[in-house]
Amino acid sequence: MFKNFAAMTLIAFSLQAEPAQYQETLYPGWGQWFTESEIIFQKKTDFQDLVIFQNPLFGKVLALDGVIQHTQIDEPVYHEMMVHVPLLSHDNPQTVLVIGGGDGGILREVLKHPSIEKAVLVDIDQCVVDLSKEHLPHISKGAFDHPKVHIVIQDASLFVKECKESFDVIICDSTDPIGPGEVLFTSEFYGDCKKLLNKNGIFVNQNGVPFMQQTELALTMNNRKPHFKHVTFYVAPVPTYAGGHMAFGWASDKRYRVAEAVLEERLSKLNADLFYYTPEVHKAAFALPNFMRKQIASFEMEPLAKLSSRSK
Ligand code: SAM
Repeated sequence: MFKNFAAMTLIAFSLQAEPAQYQETLYPGWGQWFTESEIIFQKKTDFQDLVIFQNPLFGKVLALDGVIQHTQIDEPVYHEMMVHVPLLSHDNPQTVLVIGGGDGGILREVLKHPSIEKAVLVDIDQCVVDLSKEHLPHISKGAFDHPKVHIVIQDASLFVKECKESFDVIICDSTDPIGPGEVLFTSEFYGDCKKLLNKNGIFVNQNGVPFMQQTELALTMNNRKPHFKHVTFYVAPVPTYAGGHMAFGWASDKRYRVAEAVLEERLSKLNADLFYYTPEVHKAAFALPNFMRKQIASFEMEPLAKLSSRSK
């Protein structure tokens, strides 16, 4: 009798001991997984498979179409570098267009800049915005309801064609170039964004993990170059964007070489305690590792079409 009870308890315990796992599906043959201690929300929206879950190490996690968008613990690295590098480089940024960014992390950081008068966010998916407000308030920290913020739910590639406003900085916080995000990596889209930039305007975009997503550098390099005089990248380590550095695309007509002391002085006006960004890190982020420099150089010599046929 006792033996049966012990066996049943053991089975029950072993069944309890295996929490669900979330497997990211970005790369064939390799990837990262997360324990899902709780699935907070899951939904197939009109555009994407959305899941928000709790992880014991990284806190609340948002994933879209099998790809990690952010985790509570390391999102400040990404959001701070996407926002403060262009906004502190610019002499006096007043208007910002955020492409994608439906979780609100970019808006949160933009609103730390006292010079900002207006920030427009354009995301294709109302659900991402609504569910981020409801389940991830620690990311946006009320930014969606700020009087300086205007939210537009639309495919951004159409929005930038019809928009009559102009902006000092455009920040493209999109998903990867698959599914709804693919159009946001095209030359046409970059050209339309360029038309919306004021003089000395800056365009930055999430540009993937170069060690793993080798053709993504070429893709944006070749598609931004026809529209901007200065096109480059900067990098930062975002632990749950697995595979090494995260790359950020930079594009402008003005060559920005802002002294660290000037960045320091501008940063002091934010009155914000940042997690990752410093003027020193800002400057160092543009020092690219040799494999990336070689990737960029090879693309300049070898057009994308030929390259991507080689990497298949
Ligand atoms: N930081 C994340 C990354 O680097 O992968 C991106 C996060 S953000 C949540 C991505 C947003 O891009 C999503 O909210 C998604 O709805 C939006 N998005 C994807 N395609 C879009 C499009 N064509 N127009 C506007 N927003 C788009």
